Amino acid sequence: MPKLVFTLALGFCLLVSCAERPADSAHDHFSFANSRQFITRHLALDLTVDFEARALHGTASLEMERLDAAATRILLDTRELHIDGVQVEYASRPAQAAAFRLLAVDPMLGQPLEITLPDGFEPPGPFRVRIAYRTSPGATALQWLPPELTAGGRRPFLFSQSQSIHARSWVPLQDTPAVRFTYSANIRTPPDLLALMSADNDPAAERDGEYHFEMPQPIPSYLLAIAVGDVHFAAIGPDTGVYAEPEVLQAAAWEFADTQAMLEKAAAIYGPYRWGRYDLLILPPSFPYGGMENPRLSFITPAVLAGDRSLVSLIAHELAHSWSGNLVTNATWRDIWLNEGITSYLDARLMELLYGTQSADEERYLRYQDLLAQFEFISPAMQALAPDMRGADPDESQGSVHYTKGQMLLEHLERRFGREPFDRFLAEYFEHFAWQSITTEQFLDYLDAHLLSKYPGRYSREQAGQWLYQPGLPDDAPVPRAERLERASAVALAWAAGELGTDALPVSGWGPHVITQLINALPPDVAHDRLGELDAHLGLSATRNAEIGRAWFAQVAKRGYRAAYPQMTAYLHRIGRIWMIEPVYRALAENGEDLATAREIFASARGGYHPLTITRIEHRLAATP
Ligand SMILES: [Zn+2]
Repeated sequence: MPKLVFTLALGFCLLVSCAERPADSAHDHFSFANSRQFITRHLALDLTVDFEARALHGTASLEMERLDAAATRILLDTRELHIDGVQVEYASRPAQAAAFRLLAVDPMLGQPLEITLPDGFEPPGPFRVRIAYRTSPGATALQWLPPELTAGGRRPFLFSQSQSIHARSWVPLQDTPAVRFTYSANIRTPPDLLALMSADNDPAAERDGEYHFEMPQPIPSYLLAIAVGDVHFAAIGPDTGVYAEPEVLQAAAWEFADTQAMLEKAAAIYGPYRWGRYDLLILPPSFPYGGMENPRLSFITPAVLAGDRSLVSLIAHELAHSWSGNLVTNATWRDIWLNEGITSYLDARLMELLYGTQSADEERYLRYQDLLAQFEFISPAMQALAPDMRGADPDESQGSVHYTKGQMLLEHLERRFGREPFDRFLAEYFEHFAWQSITTEQFLDYLDAHLLSKYPGRYSREQAGQWLYQPGLPDDAPVPRAERLERASAVALAWAAGELGTDALPVSGWGPHVITQLINALPPDVAHDRLGELDAHLGLSATRNAEIGRAWFAQVAKRGYRAAYPQMTAYLHRIGRIWMIEPVYRALAENGEDLATAREIFASARGGYHPLTITRIEHRLAATP
């Protein structure tokens, strides 16, 4: 229960210092790269996209610097890459072959590629390492979709998802967010398909199968991204637009029409947008996440095309990453809350500016309810914002703790210091750490020096440390309020108790937030025929709104309400976003009767899921006794 969690957090704080920092907080446990000896400054890719072989093949040239004069052995991250050869060169000297070998496989981290510099190779400055290679069809970052899994159904589609540690499955490189590099790429595709990257996409690019990209701003490896498909462009504003398959292009341009306004509002508070254009790419439904903040080109799930602009907070979120995440990046995966928590705070602020306080507060309220529910499943150690990640999987150990608890920390600080001073502090923070990757402790030091110490006695470093290093929420954490949603909870209870007939539900003017809250607040003992009445009255099983679908079908599964299983099954086939389907699978697996049903549905739906979704749902179903 949440209450227990709060008590635990306080108890821990009495025993150990709340600002205790781990000894090796800057060490990245998820990379083999020896980036303190050699560091990548630029990456040049030359790749052919082979849909038949489901492989990328070509070369990756890393421009590196030697930081340790005695070092002769470079370690790079790879996963299931076939390496054909390695050459090294500097200045105008001829390239030399370098000895290389792939070391032992780690099931989570992949395989280090060890490259030994030839005897006498003594570059006076930067040098290049060129690796000829090919990806495997099972590359965890890449999804190769056959035509039938796209909106158009005519041409195949490829897209990448490099975060957290999957860039290594399509490029041999130093796969740690601590290393930032610029990149360029030549990409060859079938001539009727368009290639896009997290780079300088040209909306007017000629479609000929030969594409060149430049990314002049240094990025960490997890922001490397590629997509290839039958996608077209529609402008939204002067610096913003959307790429999508023709079948969804106009709907997407309409749904996300406020993107330019979001960009301008964010820049007005947090400092200039430094990336040139900001475009969206709408992916096929199997995309495993809501969005991915690939710089200049956010990848977006089509599940937020609700037809009523009700799910655009996702766009605000991905856009806000242009500051928190892409400009100032977590140095290790332990520090991911610096990306996600600060971004969640920013997206809520943007939603408030564009759509008003009521709607923004309702989203805060729903996120908070979700956080409390997640505390039930996430180990206390992983409930800290900056937990000890050794042995954990960076893709799935923290649920949404780093998002919502991080957001709440920033909202707490905003209330303590006032909105204007806190906005100024954040804008200066982005300026100060621009183009850097930083740890939680660097954030805490900066917070201390530039905010806490300026207003002595208002908030202590130890209090901030409670959020960072302890489970649950501190007892003075702000509790979001949302009047309409609190009323919806009361209505749900009155309806369940029979005090309110289904026809008497005051549905007019109810938006998706209210309906979601009503569903979440239903008590456990509602009879199935009454669930049927509610479903028919509110059109729950037929909803186009995927957030309502998530809430409803999780309840359908939890309560074993079989009348809606056909629609639930269709939902699980239609949507591949982990956030949307994992709670439904979890509820099925844990209702005591439907683990076999969950496995059957998964077996038939998995062909349309991304490798990351498959892994997550497999873990979920295997973890159920
Ligand atoms: Zn995010």
